[in-house]
Amino acid sequence: MTSPTPAAGDAVRLTGTAKSYGAFTAVHPLDLAVPAGSFFALLGASGCGKTTTLRMIAGLEAPTAGTVHLGGQDVTALPPYKRPVNTVFQNYALFPHLDVYENVAFGLRRRGIKSVRKQVGEMLDLVQLGPLARRRPHQLSGGQQQRVAVARALINRPQVLLLDEPLGALDLKLRRQMQLELKRIQTEVGITFVHVTHDQEEAMTMADTVAVMNAGRVEQMGAPADLYENPASTFVANFLGTSNLIEAEVAGEEGGTLHLTSGGLRLSLPAARCRAQAAVGDRVLAGVRPEKITLAHRDDEDAIPAGRNRVPGRIVDSSFIGVSTQYVVDSPVCPDLEVFVPNVGRDARLAPGAPVVLHWDPEHTFGLDAHQDID
Ligand code: ATP
Repeated sequence: MTSPTPAAGDAVRLTGTAKSYGAFTAVHPLDLAVPAGSFFALLGASGCGKTTTLRMIAGLEAPTAGTVHLGGQDVTALPPYKRPVNTVFQNYALFPHLDVYENVAFGLRRRGIKSVRKQVGEMLDLVQLGPLARRRPHQLSGGQQQRVAVARALINRPQVLLLDEPLGALDLKLRRQMQLELKRIQTEVGITFVHVTHDQEEAMTMADTVAVMNAGRVEQMGAPADLYENPASTFVANFLGTSNLIEAEVAGEEGGTLHLTSGGLRLSLPAARCRAQAAVGDRVLAGVRPEKITLAHRDDEDAIPAGRNRVPGRIVDSSFIGVSTQYVVDSPVCPDLEVFVPNVGRDARLAPGAPVVLHWDPEHTFGLDAHQDID
């Protein structure tokens, strides 16, 4: 296979890159490009092949097919230490006998650089650890150790920093804090980050581009908001959040809007947002995110503006989740539609059994192939 010439602006380019272990294919032939200076996330459930992909970029695994280009150079045959990359692992792998300063200075000293003070100082400032320079790793919190690992990996200015679940060992609050911190560091240094995670919120918070992996394949790649708003498959729709999928039949199309019927109801779907074949009679899944839906008591139905998608139902369950209340609604088109209602006013919570109408702007509906498995 001849590989295309990598674009100059790509920090990483995988072309038909695959990895098999005997008869088992961990990563199917993969094509992806990471623009230089961007924050890229590989997102997927355990075992989907994201770490293997990262390790092929690092040179820690040899692909069984395809090529790896870094900054336009074919590095497929190069060992890890000759590649312009560095990796931060989940366990940090800090030197326990060296203090923070010496851990960070290590990469420079190994290259024979004598005068390290300025560079180490800048790096410690970047990760805000200057005051802790003389502490040993065991005297640091998990988040601080993680920052030392990042500083140590960045000191040699790699073209690409690879991060393999680097926040996996941290508790939720610290994890959220470090996500913002890593994003800030990436923006400041301008180095390309490729970050592996199974946490969809983490990938969406940090990355410019997210590749969603499933069973060794990239299902969809794009900007976080685009993936969330316009998922291309039920897997992506469900992996990135609650999707409320309603099975429906295409009844017609008019002016770029598909008219659907489901359980005696009519729904509208912008044709441009439908990923499935949608001739009259075809079955599609109409999806809508929970926060796009408004919940009204059936007594107030007359106040709902015309032109909205409407689904009647009854409250099955509700849970208070701080900023919002999450309702589960049984309807003729789906037994468990989910709606998030912001807790802004002092509205009484709707009780189980209450008759309601769910309504939303048809523009917020996306269409998927009804013949895929719903995970
Ligand atoms: P996790 O989040 O659990 O680390 P992952 O998405 O990073 O998962 P990989 O570590 O890339 O997944 O593994 C992908 C698949 O390849 C898994 O099914 C794994 O069992 C398999 N695999 C990984 N390394 C080997 C190996 N050396 N020999 C055989 N199978 C392997």
